Amino acid sequence: MATTDAVPAGNIEYTNRVFSKKTRRGRVALLVREHYLRNDIVCGVTICSSCLEKLQPVKTTSVLIEDASHFVIIDFTFAAYFWEMLDTPQLSKLNIIIPNTVTNEIQNITGGQRLYNKIKNRVKDARKNTILFGNENFVETFVERKAKESIEERNYRAIATTASWYMNHLKANQIKTPVMLLSDSEDLRKTAQNMGVSALSIRDYLTTWQKENSRALLDLYESLHQIYIEAKEKKAEAEAKGTQDQLYDEYLGEDVLEAGIKSGIFFQGSLHVNHHNPDDAFIRADEKKGILSDILIPEGRYRNRAIHGDSVAVQLLAESEWVSPGSIIRKEESGEGKEEGRTVLVSTSKSRRKVPTGKVVGIVQRNVRDYVCTIQVDKDKDVASMQL
Ligand SMILES: [Zn+2]
Repeated sequence: MATTDAVPAGNIEYTNRVFSKKTRRGRVALLVREHYLRNDIVCGVTICSSCLEKLQPVKTTSVLIEDASHFVIIDFTFAAYFWEMLDTPQLSKLNIIIPNTVTNEIQNITGGQRLYNKIKNRVKDARKNTILFGNENFVETFVERKAKESIEERNYRAIATTASWYMNHLKANQIKTPVMLLSDSEDLRKTAQNMGVSALSIRDYLTTWQKENSRALLDLYESLHQIYIEAKEKKAEAEAKGTQDQLYDEYLGEDVLEAGIKSGIFFQGSLHVNHHNPDDAFIRADEKKGILSDILIPEGRYRNRAIHGDSVAVQLLAESEWVSPGSIIRKEESGEGKEEGRTVLVSTSKSRRKVPTGKVVGIVQRNVRDYVCTIQVDKDKDVASMQL
C-alpha cells in the first residue's frame, strides 16, 4: 500500500468516532473507537518536494507521474460499478487517486472483498500509477460527520475535501498537473464544485479528456451505466421496504428472550393463526409453561411479522390494553362500504369479552414457511387472480 501501511513517524492526533453497527441479531449497537489521525501522509506525486521529506520511512509502490496530463480522483460509485473501464488499454495507465473513504465503503458492502482485492492489486502494480490515499487517517483531510448529515453526505464531503486538498497541495508545490473528481453522483459533484473542485460526470470526462478513445470507452460506459441504474433502483426498493419494516418493533435478542422466558416475564408458545379469521392468532394455554389461558395475538403490530407455527416469545399486555377477538377488524372495518360478511363479524365481536392479549417480542424458532396459494376466479370477467 502506498500510504496507509507505514508506521507513523510524526505526531499523531486522535478523535473519537461513534459508529452504529447492526449486530447479527438485527439490533443496533453503538461503538466508540479512537480514530488516529496522522500528519505524515503523502500525496504520492513523484517529485513533490514537501512530501519527499516525509516519504523517507514509507515504502511506496505506485506513484503518480508528475508530467501526466491529469490526475483523477474516483468515488465509491466509480469503483463499485465502473472499475472495469480501468482494465481497458486506454485507461490502464490513468493516474488515479483512490480516497480510502471509498475502500472503506467497499469493504462494508456484501461481496466487496473481491473488488477490494482488485483495487489493492492495481495499487500494488507500480506500472499502474494508482495510489490509495489515506484521507480518513490524515489530519488535513479527515472530516467529522455533522449533526443531521447522512453517512453518504459525510462521505461526499470527505471525498470533495480530499480533491480540494490535492488541488491546493499541488499548487503549493508548483505541480501544474490538473486534478479532477470523476463521479456519476450529481450530489457529490455539487459538493465538490462548491469547494472549487473540478468535478465531472464519467460521460463528460470521456468526451473531453479521452476524446481520441471515447467511442470504445463510451460503449463500455453505457453498458456499465445500465447495470448501475438497475442496482440503484433495486436499492431504492429495498430501502422503501426497510421503512415499512420499521412499523414493527425490533425483535429482542436471544439472550434477553431466554432470560425473559426463564423468569416468567415472557411466555413461549407456538403461534396458531385462526383459520376462519386470520386476523386473530393465539398461543395456547399450557400450565406446564405457566400460561393459564390462551393469549390472543391480533394481526399487525402485535403479531410483529410472526407467522403460523413460529415458536414465539410473547409479552402479556396490561389488562387495560386487552381486546376481544375480532376487535382489530372492528377498528379497520368501521368505515363505509365494507363487504357484508365482515360487518356481521364486527357486530358480534362487540358482545365478546376481552381476553388476555399479548404481543410478540421475539421469534424463538421460525416455522419452515409453507406458503398457501389460493386462486380466486372472477366469474364475470373470467379472470383468475392468484394470491400468495
Ligand atoms: Zn505532495
